[in-house]
Amino acid sequence: MAREIGPKCRQCRTEQTKLFLKGERCHTAKCPINKKAGKPGKEPRARSKKMTDYGVQLREKQKLKRTYGMLEKQFKLTFNEADRQTGKTGENLIVLLERRLDNMVFRLHYGTSRSQARQLVSHGHILVNGKRVTIPSYRVKVGDEIKVVEASQKMIVIKESLKEYTKSGVPAWLDLDADAMKGKVLAFPRRSEVTETTVINEQLIVELYSR
Ligand code: SF4
Repeated sequence: MAREIGPKCRQCRTEQTKLFLKGERCHTAKCPINKKAGKPGKEPRARSKKMTDYGVQLREKQKLKRTYGMLEKQFKLTFNEADRQTGKTGENLIVLLERRLDNMVFRLHYGTSRSQARQLVSHGHILVNGKRVTIPSYRVKVGDEIKVVEASQKMIVIKESLKEYTKSGVPAWLDLDADAMKGKVLAFPRRSEVTETTVINEQLIVELYSR
């Protein structure tokens, strides 16, 4: 399973923004991005230094790619698919990313971060419509039921993560029965509903790949 590796906080510092890659810690004062600006290993960069258009577009793409923990090839394939669909390519891209099974497992609070959710999927702890699915990029459909395997429902990591559900709930396009550890996809999200990525200007990514 290909994925971006390396220190997660370093990725946030490279992008100079919070990408929320480490679950709970990202929402606490321990998040280093709150303390230290600038790229890893360097003094904070002079913000006045003007980036080229290409640089701005590239950084935007890296932010989105890293948020979903993807590698370039996989991300580009998803972009190409979004481009073939009707409607706005950038918005299609975000909806396709949201439909990944690892993302849905994260949204349902079975894992505290997308990387933890990805592990739960690849280690066989998740059922889709009653069948074990171990492919994190599996694309879910409206009406799909996403459930934690019966034997895995005792896992502390899942129980602890689900506590977040009582605080923040799940997005409007999902339904969750937290006691049964069973969720359902009610609809695909609209772009405006994916609040975590509102800081990302997906049009810049479209421009980057149109070069
Ligand atoms: Fe690290 Fe999360 Fe903060 Fe990013 S948002 S720097 S992953 S703690």
